[in-house]
Amino acid sequence: MIGSKFIVANFKMNKTVHEAEEFLKNLVLNGKKWNLEVIICPTFLCLERALNICHKSGIKIGAQNCYFEKNGAFTGEVSAFMLSSVGAEYVILGHSERRTYFFETDDIINKKVISALENNLKPIICVGETEFERENGTEKEKIKSQIDFALKGAEPEQLDKVIIAYEPIWAIGTGKVVDYDDARKMFLFIKNHLVFRYGKNLADKIKLLYGGSINENNVKELLGIENIDGGLIGGASLDFSRFMSILNQAENSDKGE
Ligand code: PEP
Repeated sequence: MIGSKFIVANFKMNKTVHEAEEFLKNLVLNGKKWNLEVIICPTFLCLERALNICHKSGIKIGAQNCYFEKNGAFTGEVSAFMLSSVGAEYVILGHSERRTYFFETDDIINKKVISALENNLKPIICVGETEFERENGTEKEKIKSQIDFALKGAEPEQLDKVIIAYEPIWAIGTGKVVDYDDARKMFLFIKNHLVFRYGKNLADKIKLLYGGSINENNVKELLGIENIDGGLIGGASLDFSRFMSILNQAENSDKGE
């Protein structure tokens, strides 16, 4: 592990193979050794090229989804086993877009998490409440239940591979950022829940990210909040100069500069 903070770029269904390749070559050519864990998640189509380009650069590559069966008659799916076999290190699971548009349930997400862990992939598990749930004051209940479901059956020794990304659904791609004090309370709640469930030593091994309209203007404040170990970035990761600015500021987020 290099630095303490994690920055994950989720390209979603954006960038052709050629565009992603150019972005990654620029990132690697930049030559900077980030004091961060930088993880880029392009489409499945780019994974192998991305891994080749970033090999030895310290930049890590992740997928945006996987299927829980190892292989078989599951047309259109890509398994955790297959991702692992090409050298991917991370996989985003349970993103709200997967839950909403592809009807992924907590049970499906749990199976994917277990399969990822069994195949030595580090799952970045997304959890988050809707605007309605927040207005009704049920957001903490929702987050707790999504976390508990996702981690059902995970072995204690696998927890150091687990990353939880708290992404309020109403903040994803909307430009609405969580209130910093609300974020502080939510991350404290998540941390306390993990400590209650697993004990402090194991809970501290699970990294916690914030996601939802992070940009170059708010990343430093967000990453400076207690118990936030990094950020998951969608829209603002697509533009090279904005992403570079985010990386530079994330590096300094502990320093209070
Ligand atoms: C995301 O899709 O996980 C995300 C956080 O997107 P955005 O940064 O665009 O809100």
